[in-house]
Amino acid sequence: MERMNVFVVGAGVVGLSTAIRALEAGYNVTIFAEIFPGDPKSIKYTSCWAGADHISVVTSSTFMHELERETMQAFLHLIEVDPLVPVMLRPHVELTQAAGPDIKKKYDHLSQFYSDFRSLRQSELPEGVVAGVMFPTIHVDVPRYLPYLMNRFLHAGGQAFRMTIPSLSSLIARNDRPVLEAFPLSAGSPPSSDPAAVINCTGLGALSLGDVLDTDVYPTRGETLLIRAPWVHHGMTYYCQNSDVSYIIPRQSGDVILGGTWQIDDWHPISRPETVKSIKERGIHAYPELLPPNKRENPDINDLDVVEECVGLRTTRKGGIRLETTSIDIGGKEFPIIHNYGHGGAGYQSSWGSAKRAIELLQASLER
Ligand SMILES: Cc1cc2nc3c(=O)[nH]c(=O)nc-3n(C[C@H](O)[C@H](O)[C@H](O)COP(=O)(O)OP(=O)(O)OC[C@H]3O[C@@H](n4cnc5c(N)ncnc54)[C@H](O)[C@@H]3O)c2cc1C
Repeated sequence: MERMNVFVVGAGVVGLSTAIRALEAGYNVTIFAEIFPGDPKSIKYTSCWAGADHISVVTSSTFMHELERETMQAFLHLIEVDPLVPVMLRPHVELTQAAGPDIKKKYDHLSQFYSDFRSLRQSELPEGVVAGVMFPTIHVDVPRYLPYLMNRFLHAGGQAFRMTIPSLSSLIARNDRPVLEAFPLSAGSPPSSDPAAVINCTGLGALSLGDVLDTDVYPTRGETLLIRAPWVHHGMTYYCQNSDVSYIIPRQSGDVILGGTWQIDDWHPISRPETVKSIKERGIHAYPELLPPNKRENPDINDLDVVEECVGLRTTRKGGIRLETTSIDIGGKEFPIIHNYGHGGAGYQSSWGSAKRAIELLQASLER
């Protein structure tokens, strides 16, 4: 039987994970996107700016926790079957200067979510810290993981084409799709026949994509620093008394992401000098070991080896992730559209779970 064509719009972590699952489910899958892994970093491509770790969100949404659990299982499976996968299971420490009810709620949630969770003993807490916990979790080496997903998709037979799409209907019911460039390794032209369905994984793009125009979508700006510190092998989140949060996520390369900010509806695409200074100061206070060993006695922000100042826009959405089916009528024919966007600050840790749900929606819409 001929495989059905499915188009995926978007090549961030959500689009790539979803496209891989669609291939595995037996569809003929083509990705269309403006930006792909390996392109110069862009403010329009959130996935390249993430930390990224897996720290379950404190929310009353059991649905979100299911997605996170399924994604955790998928990451652990990847590590088991492929020792070279750029995903690591590593210790993560959470420290707080102010143990209020929010922190208690968070620690209670984390203790139920992660196995081998333990509270730190008083003797293990650094000065000024009143409580702390430790558990193993996932760190994704983002600059290596996105090309890994892309290669996996192409080697499994997927096709990918660069294209900026004004509206979803512009992609359907036409055989002259104005492709700008075939992604390297992806041979041939896009399928000339119509797709059976389209999966929309456009992140913040959903705000301006015709046929979608989702005004619930907004950015949550995250400014971070990439620091060279190959001696750091665990992650950390540090809650300050004034509710600022610092975090570190080490990569396989020896670089470490030091964050950060959480700025709602702020589109500013480049770093702000005062924020850079604040992230550095908070960072070396929370974890002086970010500095080279011979510079820790008198910590000075100028001794941090800063590789890059980074700004990314988390793909946030009022009401959370949009995982649902709609349709577009073109010439009297209904085309199912599966939406999978709006993952906010949790797109990596919910990627495989939401991909699985998107494929379930796809299958259900094509069986009707
Ligand atoms: C500082 C920071 C730290 C983060 N840390 C974490 C973390 O620790 N853990 C975690 O799980 N998550 C983290 N995140 C969140 C995570 O990065 C996002 O949730 C995730 O990357 C969203 O992926 P996406 O594929 O939906 O969107 P994107 O990566 O933005 O991809 C969107 C894709 O759609 C394409 N597109 C959009 N519109 C169009 C159009 N009209 N035509 C063609 N193509 C289009 C784009 O070109 C792109 O390919 C962090 C984010 C930031 C900024």
